[in-house]
Amino acid sequence: MSDCNHQCGSCGESCSDRSEPQDLKVKLHQFSQVKKVIGIVSGKGGVGKSLVTALLACAVQAGGKHAAILDADITGPSIPKLFGLTSRMSGTQLGLNPVKTATGVDVASMNLLLDNATDPVVWRGPVIANVVTQFWSEVVWQNVEYMFVDMPPGTGDVPLTVYQSLPIDGIVIVTSPQELVSMIVEKALNMARLDGLSIPVLGLVENMSYFICPDCGKRHSIFGESHLDEIARQHGIAAAARIPIDPAVARACDNGAIETLHADWLQPVLKKILSL
Ligand code: ADP
Repeated sequence: MSDCNHQCGSCGESCSDRSEPQDLKVKLHQFSQVKKVIGIVSGKGGVGKSLVTALLACAVQAGGKHAAILDADITGPSIPKLFGLTSRMSGTQLGLNPVKTATGVDVASMNLLLDNATDPVVWRGPVIANVVTQFWSEVVWQNVEYMFVDMPPGTGDVPLTVYQSLPIDGIVIVTSPQELVSMIVEKALNMARLDGLSIPVLGLVENMSYFICPDCGKRHSIFGESHLDEIARQHGIAAAARIPIDPAVARACDNGAIETLHADWLQPVLKKILSL
Protein backbone atom coordinates (compact mmCIF):
# COMPACT_ATOMS: atom_id res chain seq x y z
CA MET A 1 0.00 0.00 0.00
CA SER A 2 1.33 3.45 -0.91
CA ASP A 3 0.07 5.23 2.25
CA CYS A 4 1.15 2.47 4.67
CA ASN A 5 2.42 3.74 8.04
CA HIS A 6 3.30 0.18 9.23
CA GLN A 7 0.97 0.52 12.24
CA CYS A 8 -0.95 -2.71 11.63
CA GLY A 9 -2.66 -2.53 15.02
CA SER A 10 -4.63 0.56 13.97
CA CYS A 11 -5.25 -0.41 10.33
CA GLY A 12 -8.08 -2.54 9.00
CA GLU A 13 -6.53 -3.25 5.58
CA SER A 14 -5.59 -6.80 4.76
CA CYS A 15 -2.41 -6.50 2.70
CA SER A 16 0.64 -8.69 2.11
CA ASP A 17 2.79 -6.49 4.38
CA ARG A 18 0.52 -7.00 7.33
CA SER A 19 2.48 -8.17 10.39
CA GLU A 20 0.24 -9.54 13.09
CA PRO A 21 1.40 -8.92 16.67
CA GLN A 22 3.37 -11.99 17.71
CA ASP A 23 1.90 -14.05 20.52
CA LEU A 24 4.71 -14.29 23.08
CA LYS A 25 2.60 -15.91 25.83
CA VAL A 26 4.46 -18.49 27.91
CA LYS A 27 2.70 -21.77 28.76
CA LEU A 28 1.64 -22.38 32.32
CA HIS A 29 3.12 -25.49 34.00
CA GLN A 30 1.13 -28.57 32.97
CA PHE A 31 0.03 -29.26 36.57
CA SER A 32 -0.92 -25.64 37.38
CA GLN A 33 -4.37 -24.09 37.40
CA VAL A 34 -4.63 -20.29 37.52
CA LYS A 35 -7.96 -18.59 36.81
CA LYS A 36 -7.28 -14.83 36.96
CA VAL A 37 -4.02 -12.87 36.83
CA ILE A 38 -3.81 -9.32 38.18
CA GLY A 39 -0.67 -7.18 37.77
CA ILE A 40 0.14 -4.58 40.44
CA VAL A 41 2.20 -1.76 38.90
CA SER A 42 3.84 1.49 39.98
CA GLY A 43 5.91 4.24 38.40
CA LYS A 44 8.79 3.81 40.85
CA GLY A 45 9.86 1.77 43.87
CA GLY A 46 8.89 2.42 47.46
CA VAL A 47 5.33 3.66 46.87
CA GLY A 48 3.64 0.60 48.41
CA LYS A 49 3.19 -1.71 45.42
CA SER A 50 4.14 -4.82 47.41
CA LEU A 51 1.93 -3.69 50.28
CA VAL A 52 -1.08 -3.40 47.93
CA THR A 53 -0.23 -6.78 46.33
CA ALA A 54 -0.11 -8.41 49.78
CA LEU A 55 -3.29 -6.72 51.06
CA LEU A 56 -5.28 -7.74 47.97
CA ALA A 57 -4.04 -11.35 48.15
CA CYS A 58 -4.84 -11.52 51.89
CA ALA A 59 -8.34 -10.11 51.33
CA VAL A 60 -9.10 -12.58 48.53
CA GLN A 61 -7.77 -15.50 50.59
CA ALA A 62 -9.74 -14.37 53.67
CA GLY A 63 -12.86 -14.27 51.48
CA GLY A 64 -12.47 -17.99 50.77
CA LYS A 65 -10.86 -17.82 47.33
CA HIS A 66 -7.37 -19.22 46.87
CA ALA A 67 -4.85 -16.44 46.18
CA ALA A 68 -1.24 -16.55 45.04
CA ILE A 69 1.54 -14.00 44.59
CA LEU A 70 4.13 -14.15 41.83
CA ASP A 71 6.82 -11.70 42.98
CA ALA A 72 8.12 -10.35 39.67
CA ASP A 73 10.08 -7.60 41.43
CA ILE A 74 13.21 -9.75 41.12
CA THR A 75 15.80 -7.15 42.17
CA GLY A 76 13.71 -5.74 45.05
CA PRO A 77 11.57 -8.63 46.29
CA SER A 78 9.78 -7.60 49.49
CA ILE A 79 6.81 -10.00 49.50
CA PRO A 80 8.53 -12.72 51.65
CA LYS A 81 9.43 -10.07 54.24
CA LEU A 82 5.84 -8.76 54.47
CA PHE A 83 4.58 -12.29 55.19
CA GLY A 84 7.53 -13.27 57.42
CA LEU A 85 8.45 -16.19 55.13
CA THR A 86 11.73 -17.87 56.00
CA SER A 87 11.54 -21.29 54.31
CA ARG A 88 12.81 -21.80 50.75
CA MET A 89 10.91 -22.92 47.65
CA SER A 90 11.39 -26.66 47.20
CA GLY A 91 11.68 -28.50 43.93
CA THR A 92 10.78 -31.94 42.62
CA GLN A 93 11.21 -33.52 39.20
CA LEU A 94 7.90 -31.94 38.28
CA GLY A 95 8.82 -28.36 39.11
CA LEU A 96 9.12 -25.80 41.88
CA ASN A 97 6.63 -25.50 44.71
CA PRO A 98 5.54 -22.10 46.02
CA VAL A 99 5.82 -21.34 49.75
CA LYS A 100 2.54 -21.06 51.69
CA THR A 101 1.91 -18.12 54.01
CA ALA A 102 0.19 -18.57 57.41
CA THR A 103 -3.27 -18.14 55.84
CA GLY A 104 -2.47 -20.24 52.76
CA VAL A 105 -1.49 -17.70 50.08
CA ASP A 106 1.00 -19.35 47.67
CA VAL A 107 4.14 -17.27 47.02
CA ALA A 108 7.01 -17.52 44.52
CA SER A 109 9.78 -14.98 44.95
CA MET A 110 13.47 -14.62 44.16
CA ASN A 111 14.18 -14.17 47.87
CA LEU A 112 12.72 -17.64 48.50
CA LEU A 113 15.46 -19.09 46.26
CA LEU A 114 18.49 -17.16 47.52
CA ASP A 115 20.70 -18.52 50.32
CA ASN A 116 20.63 -15.12 52.00
CA ALA A 117 17.76 -12.64 51.61
CA THR A 118 20.39 -9.88 51.53
CA ASP A 119 22.24 -11.30 48.48
CA PRO A 120 21.84 -8.79 45.65
CA VAL A 121 20.53 -9.97 42.28
CA VAL A 122 23.00 -8.41 39.83
CA TRP A 123 21.62 -9.58 36.50
CA ARG A 124 20.78 -7.94 33.22
CA GLY A 125 17.18 -7.35 32.13
CA PRO A 126 16.70 -10.39 29.84
CA VAL A 127 17.94 -12.79 32.56
CA ILE A 128 15.61 -11.18 35.12
CA ALA A 129 12.70 -11.38 32.68
CA ASN A 130 13.46 -15.07 32.18
CA VAL A 131 13.16 -15.75 35.90
CA VAL A 132 9.74 -14.12 35.92
CA THR A 133 8.48 -16.26 33.06
CA GLN A 134 9.97 -19.35 34.76
CA PHE A 135 7.96 -18.50 37.90
CA TRP A 136 4.94 -18.82 35.61
CA SER A 137 5.95 -21.91 33.64
CA GLU A 138 8.01 -23.95 36.11
CA VAL A 139 6.22 -23.40 39.42
CA VAL A 140 3.30 -25.72 40.18
CA TRP A 141 0.45 -23.37 41.06
CA GLN A 142 -2.41 -25.46 42.39
CA ASN A 143 -6.03 -24.31 42.14
CA VAL A 144 -5.22 -20.61 42.16
CA GLU A 145 -8.30 -18.46 41.68
CA TYR A 146 -6.54 -15.08 41.79
CA MET A 147 -2.84 -14.63 41.12
CA PHE A 148 -1.36 -11.23 41.98
CA VAL A 149 1.83 -10.31 40.15
CA ASP A 150 4.00 -7.79 42.03
CA MET A 151 5.46 -6.14 38.91
CA PRO A 152 8.90 -4.53 38.73
CA PRO A 153 8.47 -0.75 39.05
CA GLY A 154 8.58 1.49 35.98
CA THR A 155 8.24 0.75 32.30
CA GLY A 156 11.44 -1.15 31.45
CA ASP A 157 12.02 -4.37 29.56
CA VAL A 158 11.09 -6.63 32.49
CA PRO A 159 7.54 -5.28 32.96
CA LEU A 160 7.11 -5.35 29.18
CA THR A 161 8.11 -9.04 29.09
CA VAL A 162 5.66 -9.78 31.90
CA TYR A 163 2.84 -8.06 29.97
CA GLN A 164 3.69 -10.01 26.84
CA SER A 165 4.34 -13.39 28.45
CA LEU A 166 1.62 -13.75 31.08
CA PRO A 167 -2.13 -13.66 30.41
CA ILE A 168 -2.77 -10.57 32.56
CA ASP A 169 -6.51 -9.98 33.05
CA GLY A 170 -6.11 -6.51 34.52
CA ILE A 171 -3.76 -4.19 36.35
CA VAL A 172 -3.98 -2.09 39.50
CA ILE A 173 -1.88 1.10 39.54
CA VAL A 174 -0.30 2.16 42.85
CA THR A 175 0.85 5.75 43.32
CA SER A 176 1.90 8.01 46.16
CA PRO A 177 0.70 11.61 46.54
CA GLN A 178 4.17 13.03 45.88
CA GLU A 179 4.13 11.67 42.36
CA LEU A 180 2.72 13.28 39.25
CA VAL A 181 -0.18 10.84 39.44
CA SER A 182 -1.74 11.76 36.12
CA MET A 183 1.52 11.15 34.26
CA ILE A 184 2.15 7.83 36.04
CA VAL A 185 -1.38 6.69 35.18
CA GLU A 186 -0.96 7.67 31.53
CA LYS A 187 2.37 5.84 31.29
CA ALA A 188 0.85 2.70 32.83
CA LEU A 189 -2.20 2.93 30.56
CA ASN A 190 -0.05 3.37 27.46
CA MET A 191 2.16 0.46 28.44
CA ALA A 192 -0.87 -1.77 28.94
CA ARG A 193 -1.84 -0.95 25.35
CA LEU A 194 1.57 -1.52 23.72
CA ASP A 195 2.08 -4.19 21.06
CA GLY A 196 -1.63 -4.76 20.51
CA LEU A 197 -2.17 -5.51 24.22
CA SER A 198 -5.38 -4.17 25.72
CA ILE A 199 -5.09 -4.88 29.41
CA PRO A 200 -7.83 -3.18 31.46
CA VAL A 201 -6.96 -0.99 34.44
CA LEU A 202 -9.08 -2.29 37.32
CA GLY A 203 -8.16 0.25 39.94
CA LEU A 204 -6.04 3.16 41.05
CA VAL A 205 -4.62 3.20 44.59
CA GLU A 206 -3.09 6.19 46.34
CA ASN A 207 -0.87 5.00 49.18
CA MET A 208 0.20 7.29 52.05
CA SER A 209 -2.74 9.44 51.02
CA TYR A 210 -3.53 10.97 54.43
CA PHE A 211 -2.76 10.64 58.13
CA ILE A 212 -5.22 10.36 60.99
CA CYS A 213 -3.81 11.99 64.11
CA PRO A 214 -3.94 9.48 66.99
CA ASP A 215 -4.39 12.33 69.50
CA CYS A 216 -7.16 14.45 67.97
CA GLY A 217 -8.53 12.00 65.36
CA LYS A 218 -8.30 14.67 62.67
CA ARG A 219 -7.52 13.66 59.09
CA HIS A 220 -4.52 15.46 57.61
CA SER A 221 -3.70 15.48 53.89
CA ILE A 222 0.02 15.92 54.42
CA PHE A 223 0.88 16.18 50.73
CA GLY A 224 -2.15 18.31 49.83
CA GLU A 225 -5.66 17.40 48.72
CA SER A 226 -5.90 14.28 46.59
CA HIS A 227 -7.31 14.44 43.05
CA LEU A 228 -7.47 10.67 42.75
CA ASP A 229 -11.17 10.33 41.91
CA GLU A 230 -10.92 13.01 39.25
CA ILE A 231 -7.88 11.33 37.66
CA ALA A 232 -9.56 7.90 37.79
CA ARG A 233 -12.67 9.37 36.12
CA GLN A 234 -10.62 11.13 33.44
CA HIS A 235 -8.95 7.85 32.48
CA GLY A 236 -12.07 5.71 32.73
CA ILE A 237 -10.78 3.74 35.74
CA ALA A 238 -13.78 2.38 37.66
CA ALA A 239 -12.29 2.00 41.14
CA ALA A 240 -10.11 4.27 43.26
CA ALA A 241 -8.86 3.64 46.80
CA ARG A 242 -6.70 5.39 49.38
CA ILE A 243 -4.42 3.98 52.06
CA PRO A 244 -3.39 6.26 54.95
CA ILE A 245 0.11 6.61 56.39
CA ASP A 246 -0.33 4.32 59.36
CA PRO A 247 2.34 3.21 61.86
CA ALA A 248 0.40 -0.09 62.19
CA VAL A 249 1.06 -0.71 58.47
CA ALA A 250 4.80 -0.05 58.86
CA ARG A 251 4.88 -2.32 61.95
CA ALA A 252 3.01 -5.15 60.19
CA CYS A 253 5.39 -4.88 57.19
CA ASP A 254 8.51 -4.83 59.35
CA ASN A 255 7.35 -7.72 61.55
CA GLY A 256 6.26 -9.94 58.65
CA ALA A 257 2.72 -9.81 59.98
CA ILE A 258 0.81 -8.35 57.05
CA GLU A 259 -1.86 -11.05 57.40
CA THR A 260 -2.81 -9.72 60.85
CA LEU A 261 -3.60 -6.27 59.44
CA HIS A 262 -7.34 -5.96 58.92
CA ALA A 263 -8.34 -2.92 56.91
CA ASP A 264 -10.93 -2.26 54.25
CA TRP A 265 -9.12 0.55 52.40
CA LEU A 266 -8.95 -1.45 49.16
CA GLN A 267 -12.63 -2.55 49.09
CA PRO A 268 -13.57 -0.67 45.86
CA VAL A 269 -10.63 -2.20 43.97
CA LEU A 270 -11.20 -5.64 45.50
CA LYS A 271 -14.85 -5.53 44.41
CA LYS A 272 -13.79 -4.77 40.85
CA ILE A 273 -11.24 -7.64 40.86
CA LEU A 274 -13.78 -10.13 42.22
CA SER A 275 -16.24 -9.13 39.50
CA LEU A 276 -13.84 -10.11 36.70
P1 ADP B 1 7.21 -0.96 46.85
O1 ADP B 1 6.75 -2.37 46.65
O2 ADP B 1 6.42 0.03 46.05
O3 ADP B 1 8.70 -0.80 46.66
P2 ADP B 1 6.54 -1.49 49.62
O4 ADP B 1 5.13 -1.96 49.50
O5 ADP B 1 7.59 -2.56 49.79
O6 ADP B 1 6.93 -0.56 48.38
O7 ADP B 1 6.60 -0.44 50.81
C1 ADP B 1 7.84 -0.04 51.35
C2 ADP B 1 7.74 0.14 52.85
O8 ADP B 1 7.10 1.39 53.13
C3 ADP B 1 6.89 -0.92 53.58
O9 ADP B 1 7.65 -2.04 53.93
C4 ADP B 1 6.38 -0.17 54.78
O10 ADP B 1 7.33 -0.25 55.83
C5 ADP B 1 6.31 1.27 54.29
N1 ADP B 1 4.92 1.68 53.97
C6 ADP B 1 4.31 1.54 52.76
N2 ADP B 1 3.07 2.05 52.82
C7 ADP B 1 2.86 2.50 54.07
C8 ADP B 1 1.77 3.13 54.77
N3 ADP B 1 0.62 3.39 54.14
N4 ADP B 1 1.93 3.46 56.07
C9 ADP B 1 3.11 3.21 56.71
N5 ADP B 1 4.18 2.62 56.12
C10 ADP B 1 4.07 2.27 54.82
